[in-house]
Amino acid sequence: MPEATIFSKIIDGSIQADILYQDDLCICIKDIQPKAPTHVLVIPRKPIPRLVDASVEDQALLGHLMLKIGDIARTLGIDEAFRVVINNGANAGQTVFHLHLHILGNKTFSEDALGMS
Ligand code: AMP
Repeated sequence: MPEATIFSKIIDGSIQADILYQDDLCICIKDIQPKAPTHVLVIPRKPIPRLVDASVEDQALLGHLMLKIGDIARTLGIDEAFRVVINNGANAGQTVFHLHLHILGNKTFSEDALGMS
């Protein structure tokens, strides 16, 4: 079992967060240090450390997260333009080792930069 991360503690309720959406598979919270005017995180309840650690048994879960991104973007009113980022590994900028998808919006991103800033 991976070590409990800040996101596991948010999921189990031992740490507070601004929860925008939740269901039996995932939660969506506001990022505490937003990199865009709208910056939320979609986090599976299952503590998969990195995207690369997901397996075929997680296929439906990963699909669920992708579909929820669209719903959440519509709810936030950013569905015409937003960016989704997954950092996989420390050298890619991952700091919390519990899989999460960043949704960034209300910002104009340059065409050639795939970073979050
Ligand atoms: P990453 O660098 O891809 O691992 O992203 C981790 C994200 O989690 C960062 O954007 C942090 O600002 C965010 N974060 C860390 N702790 C919290 C927290 N307690 N509540 C909300 N967001 C957090």
